[in-house]
Amino acid sequence: MNAPKDDTKAGNFLRAIIERDLAAGTYAQRHFAGTPGDAAHHAAGPTDAARIRTRFPPEPNGYLHIGHAKSICLNFGLAQDYGGVCHLRFDDTNPEKEEQEYVDAILDAVHWLGFDWTAGGVEHLYYASNYFDFMYRAGEALIEAGHAYVDEQSAEEMRSSRGDFNTLGSDSPFRARTPAENLARFREMRDGRLADGAAVLRAKIDMASPNINLRDPALYRIKRATHHNTGDTWCIYPMYTYAHPIEDALEGITHSICTLEFEDQRPFYDWLLDTLCNLGLLAQPRPHQYEFARLNVTHVVTSKRKLRALVDEGIVAGWDDPRMPTIAGLRRRGYTPASIRLMCERAGTSKAGGWTDYASLDIALREDLDAKAARAMAVLDPLRLVLTNWDELMGAGTIDACSAPVHPAQAERGRRAFGIGREVWIERDDFMEQPAKGYFRLFPGNRVRLKYGHVIECTGCTKDDEGRIVEVQAALVPDTKSGTPGADAVKVKGVITWVGATDGVEAEVRLYDKLFTDEQPDAGGRDYKASLNPDSLRVVSAIVEPSLATSQPDDKFQFERHGYFVADRIDHGEGRLVFNRTATLRETFAK
Ligand code: ATP
Ligand code: MG
Repeated sequence: MNAPKDDTKAGNFLRAIIERDLAAGTYAQRHFAGTPGDAAHHAAGPTDAARIRTRFPPEPNGYLHIGHAKSICLNFGLAQDYGGVCHLRFDDTNPEKEEQEYVDAILDAVHWLGFDWTAGGVEHLYYASNYFDFMYRAGEALIEAGHAYVDEQSAEEMRSSRGDFNTLGSDSPFRARTPAENLARFREMRDGRLADGAAVLRAKIDMASPNINLRDPALYRIKRATHHNTGDTWCIYPMYTYAHPIEDALEGITHSICTLEFEDQRPFYDWLLDTLCNLGLLAQPRPHQYEFARLNVTHVVTSKRKLRALVDEGIVAGWDDPRMPTIAGLRRRGYTPASIRLMCERAGTSKAGGWTDYASLDIALREDLDAKAARAMAVLDPLRLVLTNWDELMGAGTIDACSAPVHPAQAERGRRAFGIGREVWIERDDFMEQPAKGYFRLFPGNRVRLKYGHVIECTGCTKDDEGRIVEVQAALVPDTKSGTPGADAVKVKGVITWVGATDGVEAEVRLYDKLFTDEQPDAGGRDYKASLNPDSLRVVSAIVEPSLATSQPDDKFQFERHGYFVADRIDHGEGRLVFNRTATLRETFAK
């Protein structure tokens, strides 16, 4: 796969860091044993052929969203561009929230986006929970070296003795315990001799540090919970801030890229890895953490918790609802991997946060699909048009064959065939009984061209008892059929799309629009559900041209004049046509 090239790459500060490290040979002598492991394990292996190692470390507690796509494109993209390898690591150290469904969906999403964690025939797919043994061993090593202690203060005491931004912390009465006492107590924690929450293992750093994260952060807590991978082996689990740097180091990661909220954790990341390297437990040179601003996209929320609420409360139909900013949702909506990669690339990578306009995704989609998508005609709001002189001019029951290119700029892709007869379907808004100023489409007395067909002249319309227009009448203008000699002699200002009543096919079309009307639905802690767009989904019964009858799930089309549509990957097929609107043709708030 080729990562999309774009000049915004120059603005990616992480490239500068990697290029600096490559130039300095920072990681050139690093060994990698082929699998994750401690210092001894890697020392026995060869010099790492991968020039850099990055990782994408999702927690398997939900579906990935557009923000994760940014992180995937960044980590896999940098590895690709610099002769490196990117690992996919499930950060499953939290025993309670993880499920196989999410693991499967994440694997699927990363592959679909066009990335692979297999390099040189080796699968770099890892589970952080496989490192529990090492993490425990590192815990004991920290204790023995006097760098960690078991604290048995109550949660409340621990909170207040930590101090805050203005107040220095104070030492726990348990801080002075000897390594031997701590070791015995830590083993009791592990062996289930203490109740949940009765003690924690803490790093012994500095209770007066200006960085609160260095005031003896917790490393292990007691929690009796069954883990999906390790079962009931453990009743103590490592804290994320302890586990993550160790995971990186065991895997030989060079550049550990995360979002800005971890910036304040970096000093602890450095302290922990330096300490464990000095104890000879972890290989050097060790990984370094770099932070960038998370991707925020307008009109969506990107928090698994909030997305889960939308699913659980039935506000959307599921994690893959085409309105969801999940990768599964974007895929079902019809966005392509290339469009998502391009959008993420253009959003740039910087330290300064900001919002990326949702429209940039649609722009990227149009760029990707313009040359790829087959064209088709569809009438989304059908109104019957009767050509009153058809039988007289063409003969009763005659169907006149018409055709159109599959793609207007790619003649080699052939032509679509469809027929015109006495009755055709047109868009309801392509007719006005009393035309507004500047309206060039159908109104009594006006001529338009039926695209790829004939010029017609409107003669009137019929209404039902409620005054609703149920039929429009027009007369065919002879010798005006597209592609025949002299067809252009009759000039018209309007061209409208249509589908023949005889060969048109019924289809369900789902018109999707923004899920939230607010640009920043959850900014400043606002209730994002307050700005749900009541018109985010409109389902219409459309009539589409016959070429679409054989379309397959996931096939993408440009419906002429309407936008880009995809055959729904779940509901389309078996005699049922279902299309989702991915994006309109231009940036208007969809009608
Ligand atoms: P959420 O808050 O939605 O649960 P998370 O950060 O907790 O997201 P993880 O599974 O831990 O979810 O994330 C995996 C990786 O994706 C992390 O490295 C994280 O920094 C990154 N990531 C998550 N959201 C974004 C975002 N909006 N922009 C860029 N990277 C992101
Ligand atoms: Mg997280």
